[in-house]
Amino acid sequence: MILRSFGPASRRGAKGFWPAVVAALLLTALSVGAARGAEVYGVSARDLGLYLGSNLLASWRVAEARQWVDRLASDRPDDPQVRALEARVLFFEGRYAEARDLLDELGAEGPFRDLVEATWARTRSMQARAGGGFRVFWDDPKDEILVDSALEGLARAREAVAARLGFDPAGEEVRVEVYPTAAAFTDVSTLTRKEVETSGTIGLCKFNRIMITSPRATLWGYRWRDTLCHEYVHLAVYRLSRGQAPIWVHEGVAKYLEGAWRGVAGEVGPAGRALLARRMREGTLISLEEMSPSVAKLPSAEDTALAFAEVGTMMAFLVQQRGPDALERLVEGIGEGLGDREALEAVWGGPFDAFDRAWREWVEAQGFSEDPVEVLGLHLADRGAEGEEPSDAPDPQARDYLRLGDLLRGKGRMEAAAVEYEKAYASAPRAPGVASRHVLGLLTRGRFEEAVSVADRTLRLYPDLAVLWYRKALALWELDRPGEALAALDEVLEINPFHLPTRRLRAEVLERLGRPDAARAEAEVVALLEGGPTGHGRTAE
Ligand SMILES: [Zn+2]
Repeated sequence: MILRSFGPASRRGAKGFWPAVVAALLLTALSVGAARGAEVYGVSARDLGLYLGSNLLASWRVAEARQWVDRLASDRPDDPQVRALEARVLFFEGRYAEARDLLDELGAEGPFRDLVEATWARTRSMQARAGGGFRVFWDDPKDEILVDSALEGLARAREAVAARLGFDPAGEEVRVEVYPTAAAFTDVSTLTRKEVETSGTIGLCKFNRIMITSPRATLWGYRWRDTLCHEYVHLAVYRLSRGQAPIWVHEGVAKYLEGAWRGVAGEVGPAGRALLARRMREGTLISLEEMSPSVAKLPSAEDTALAFAEVGTMMAFLVQQRGPDALERLVEGIGEGLGDREALEAVWGGPFDAFDRAWREWVEAQGFSEDPVEVLGLHLADRGAEGEEPSDAPDPQARDYLRLGDLLRGKGRMEAAAVEYEKAYASAPRAPGVASRHVLGLLTRGRFEEAVSVADRTLRLYPDLAVLWYRKALALWELDRPGEALAALDEVLEINPFHLPTRRLRAEVLERLGRPDAARAEAEVVALLEGGPTGHGRTAE
């Protein structure tokens, strides 16, 4: 996801343009993009220099902004306005300590100063490793296990985005920061905790860099490499559109391409498809305008999921109808100064309303099932005590069975619990927490084939519920199907790379498959995750 604040564009005449210029320059860092297109009547060449430097930053052309500010500084080394611009450049370069020192020297106060301070404080002890045009930063030692996979996924994302959008940040290293907790992420995100939790925002692309919360900070994990790719697409869209793409285009293209690093484009998950079908019929879709300034500010996780489904399918439809370069043309059109609807009309070859109608017809023709699929949402680990699977059921009867089952399981009476879980499943088979418990019960009773088939059926609805993949792997392992078990365990790692039982089983499976080196490497990860007090690797099934 991306957040951009759209401040009022700086359309001001000569009078009153500069009195608050230092403050304005600092604030522009928070409302990037706002300054572009502003009219600069009567501004002196001297002030124009600052203005242009600021605009370069606003379109994340950081290297050029650096050259620009260096030139200004060599002419006017003591000019506080030049130095304020330099502080912003430093911030965009990831040189937070220097940015902070400079702001202190200038006596700057306000939201930008606070953001720089928070970012400095939250990143000061980070380590980093680079590869393939990216530099990944992490803070908690356990998060280092993400780095190699992150770099691998990002390198593939870079190729996919170059092929599909024609964007490559050649020669430039993209900064990727992994935050150890939701609190740390929230501090640097300019979002509130409530916005983060309600919308399930776990990643951002802002200030020319990618930020994610470690999956370790969530209870059930999330498709974290898809998220990295998603955020990288935002970077590409931002740069190609010179900071002018509206949120719906941003999220549409990012959603469409988030799986491109693994060769899949245009995927909308089962929950999104069901929501799209129902809300379209009800006439309660989220309008494109409502998606601004950020999908992270929509009122519920369901609305956020729906918004993604809408714009993701719009892009899929556009590509299907107008060819593989449709998205590149759309985003570049915006970068060349077209409005978003104009740019879309140019690619579509007709009025926006006609596109909207055709898209609706196309969605209807897909025949997406309206049968409800729960939006799993984001569950932060520091909320605690939720367990590793959803704990509610939609109907009272299933809920009673579930509670009784959990009670028995808590007392170690797993056989009796399995019976209750089976009853709950009979009455609410589509509830993810019910199905995952039933799979556990089947494992307990040695009904492994059935466990695999219930897991598969449920995974078609909830492909992101890691515990289901893990339990499926357990069943396959028991059935002596180690190759398939490994594939299921690898799915868990795409969602929750910190799931210790998965790591342990994976080491065994690799050994069994005759891959002792890989098994040893996995055992080392287990040792790293087991050490130290900050992990919360769960030992439940
Ligand atoms: Zn996004």
